[in-house]
Amino acid sequence: MTSGNLSATDQHTLSDLLEKVKNQTDLFLGYPVAKDFDYQELTDFLKYPMNNLGDPFVTSTYGVGSRELEKEVVAFFANLFRAPEDNWWGYVTNGGSEGNLYGLYLARELHPKGMVYYSEATHYSVQKNLHLLNMSNIVIRTQENGEIDYDDLEYTIRMNRHMPVIIMANIGTTMTEARDDVAKIKAILKKLAIQHYYIHADAALSGTYSALIEPRPAFDFEDGADSIAISGHKFFGSPMPCGVVIAKKSNRDRIARSVAYIGSVDTTITGSRNGHSPLFLWHTIKRLGIAGLKARALHSLETAAYAELKLKEMGIAAWRNTNAITVNFPAPSVAICKKWQLAAENGHSHIICMPNVNQTHIDLFIADLKAEMVLQH
Ligand SMILES: *Cc1c(COP(=O)(O)O)cnc(C)c1O
Repeated sequence: MTSGNLSATDQHTLSDLLEKVKNQTDLFLGYPVAKDFDYQELTDFLKYPMNNLGDPFVTSTYGVGSRELEKEVVAFFANLFRAPEDNWWGYVTNGGSEGNLYGLYLARELHPKGMVYYSEATHYSVQKNLHLLNMSNIVIRTQENGEIDYDDLEYTIRMNRHMPVIIMANIGTTMTEARDDVAKIKAILKKLAIQHYYIHADAALSGTYSALIEPRPAFDFEDGADSIAISGHKFFGSPMPCGVVIAKKSNRDRIARSVAYIGSVDTTITGSRNGHSPLFLWHTIKRLGIAGLKARALHSLETAAYAELKLKEMGIAAWRNTNAITVNFPAPSVAICKKWQLAAENGHSHIICMPNVNQTHIDLFIADLKAEMVLQH
């Protein structure tokens, strides 16, 4: 039964909010979310209570969902990340943070006495996850560019070599989009003759396109990762936060527990799961394919190169990590940060050239910086 309509005031509240959201979306260079999506074809699904309760690969008695498409999305990423052919599994999460929590959870179940190592530049949510899971952990120094300091990592593991090693590698750090090299990390573990270890890759930001560029950064299953998490609302773009986690099926099997009530297996973090978000990811995969996604990545890299050049031409000390779409520079004024929604940390800031950003946006941003410079002189 439905009844009642919104009052005129409430309708106003909604249209005001819509207007505000539209405007705030226009000028937006500071956070890594793509906005160039059109999911009109999927709007009818909003009429239904889609819920992918339980494990995507085990049917549930709850039938209103998108499991079949979710499985295709998971298969796509398992293949993209070169997961072992007969030993992969995964699900569509609520975002990168949940995927990271999941990776750490699997690692803890495999190595309850393990020590977690992660760099200073790691996303803020990881510390909270470690706290939730009550896992021992050590922070490793970063190099100037935001990449983990391999010497400090080696030294620290050596000091604790009696403990299993759990690595949280960053594939695109939040501030500078630095990538930790999973092959180098594996070489350190080999050198120290560490027998029990687990490597999780936090590829929330740049996982998807890292698999599509040359030279391919060392971050996936073939390079040594045991699980990988990405965010779906970042490079792909989606109206609501979502993500994907890919893990080895043999590891997932260790935590699986059958639950009669849902008629499925409880292998995911949450019970009810968003049944709409797999549709958005699936839609993008089908619409763009590998070629389209690659073109999208190259466009972002070109825009970033353009932004770096334009900033340098103004005498601003801008820089980028190799094959990164994040351009770093000293934090501009508070007014500019606010207008363009730029994050600033310790005097450093950045713009992130997501696929929807083009040279026109960069030119407008540069014009704002120039106008401010003129005022200051
Ligand atoms: C965005 C991000 C996260 C968190 O992902 P959410 O999708 O926001 O939960 C974790 N790590 C890195 C490096 C990120 O960029």
